[in-house]
Amino acid sequence: MREMTKENLKNAFEAIFVCPVCGHTIKKEAPEKCPVCNLPKDKYEVLTVLHNISPALFQAGDALK
Ligand SMILES: [Zn+2]
Repeated sequence: MREMTKENLKNAFEAIFVCPVCGHTIKKEAPEKCPVCNLPKDKYEVLTVLHNISPALFQAGDALK
């Protein structure tokens, strides 16, 4: 049950990489170089967004109260 909750949490977040120079964005993984301005991968900024919250996650939260 606890393992499942961890999995749900992991799936609820998604990484988005943003080029700080030109604003190019890509999901999950940054490219070796920005296809627009050639900025190297390690200069990308990482955003994490909530997505697809599973109803099971809310149920787990309720159970903790
Ligand atoms: Zn760029």
